[in-house]
Amino acid sequence: MKDIIIVGGGPAGITAGIYSARKNLNGLLLTDDFIGQLGNAGVIENWPGEKEIMGPELIANFREHLEDYNTEIKEEKVAEIMKKDDFFEVRSENTTYKSKAVIVATGRNPRPLKIPGEKEFVGKGVSYCVTCDGALFKGKTVAVVGGGNSGLEGALELSDYVEKVTVLEIADKLQGDEFLTRRVEGKDNIEVLTGVTPKRVMGDDFVSGLDYQNLDSDEEISLEVDGVFVQVGSIPTTDMLNDLADCNDGGEIVIDPKTCRTSTDGLFAAGDVTDVRDKQVVVAAGEGCKALISAYDYIKNN
Ligand SMILES: Cc1cc2nc3c(=O)[nH]c(=O)nc-3n(C[C@H](O)[C@H](O)[C@H](O)COP(=O)(O)OP(=O)(O)OC[C@H]3O[C@@H](n4cnc5c(N)ncnc54)[C@H](O)[C@@H]3O)c2cc1C
Repeated sequence: MKDIIIVGGGPAGITAGIYSARKNLNGLLLTDDFIGQLGNAGVIENWPGEKEIMGPELIANFREHLEDYNTEIKEEKVAEIMKKDDFFEVRSENTTYKSKAVIVATGRNPRPLKIPGEKEFVGKGVSYCVTCDGALFKGKTVAVVGGGNSGLEGALELSDYVEKVTVLEIADKLQGDEFLTRRVEGKDNIEVLTGVTPKRVMGDDFVSGLDYQNLDSDEEISLEVDGVFVQVGSIPTTDMLNDLADCNDGGEIVIDPKTCRTSTDGLFAAGDVTDVRDKQVVVAAGEGCKALISAYDYIKNN
């Protein structure tokens, strides 16, 4: 029986893992990967102590720091978390682990468009990560679906090496920060289409186009592109919980903001998977710390 199982190897889970060792708990961190959202991020400029660092390098530093401590680490995806009287069972693909308390720090995943052709062409021209896959489209034409900050950052990054980027935004104006919008508008090889919605991804073996609808005229138009980058937000990863914790309308785990407690005793949650307002690295790390200290108190008092 472990004292604590932490699920997730992003900034929230890793920070909880470090504090678990510092509190001398018998802890286990289970994670699908040590990539998380930071692995897909570009340059990070708001992590104190690092004026500029690439997302993948920052998460690699976090991991190295965690590995200096004696929290046990296993790269296993968790399929289910169950509460049995006064302990938890955490089931991965191969093994079921037991613990007195659990911290869920499973972050978020990209939100799909759910249009025909999207699923079929993942890895064949449809991507959710500009940093990971952008370079494969050097000299080609691509569409970025989503005109919020992620979409605009992605379009700017792509514009450095693709021939042309078309940004599709459903609202009647771009939704990203003012300074990003200005930078996008200043780029000759970025075209912005507003008031449009994607209808289907086209292609044979690989993507060759994206059909979209103009919401004013209802007209359907075909765009010839080699790649489609989907940047329409993200959804919290809670499928392993099976109603074990209360969630808000957006599917985020509702936590007590002081303690990271969930609606189930002994189950804590931290970072972007929760209803914490700000989804940022520094916040996720802080929440991981809070969750572990609260879990420590829970374990000692039970
Ligand atoms: C493109 C992009 C750019 C960003 N830029 C910035 C920025 O400049 N500054 C900033 O502060 N923030 C930025 N963010 C936000 C930041 O990355 C997140 O706030 C932060 O990573 C949240 O950390 P987390 O630990 O809560 O979740 P995540 O980073 O999402 O990590 C979740 C972890 O849980 C694991 N996991 C998921 N499901 C399971 C399962 N079933 N079993 C086991 N493990 C599981 C995953 O493998 C992953 O390791 C950016 C995000 C994106 C997507």
